[in-house]
Amino acid sequence: MTINPYLCDVCGTCVSVCPVDAIVVEENRVVLDNEKCIRCRKCVIVCPVKAISEKN
Ligand code: SF4
Ligand code: SF4
Repeated sequence: MTINPYLCDVCGTCVSVCPVDAIVVEENRVVLDNEKCIRCRKCVIVCPVKAISEKN
């Protein structure tokens, strides 16, 4: 999974829906840990600006 930093406004919505805590807010950006990610796509669906995509 990839978060496009140019689209992401660090709203935190994806962080709260991830079932395995693979997404964290780090200073003023959001970081996704692909080692933890189970590819459920919940974050992709909730992101209001479509900043998350399935490519790595
Ligand atoms: S796809 Fe699912 S497991 Fe992976 S980061 Fe998004 S919400 Fe978390
Ligand atoms: S939901 Fe989208 S805009 Fe909000 S923090 Fe996550 S990736 Fe960024």
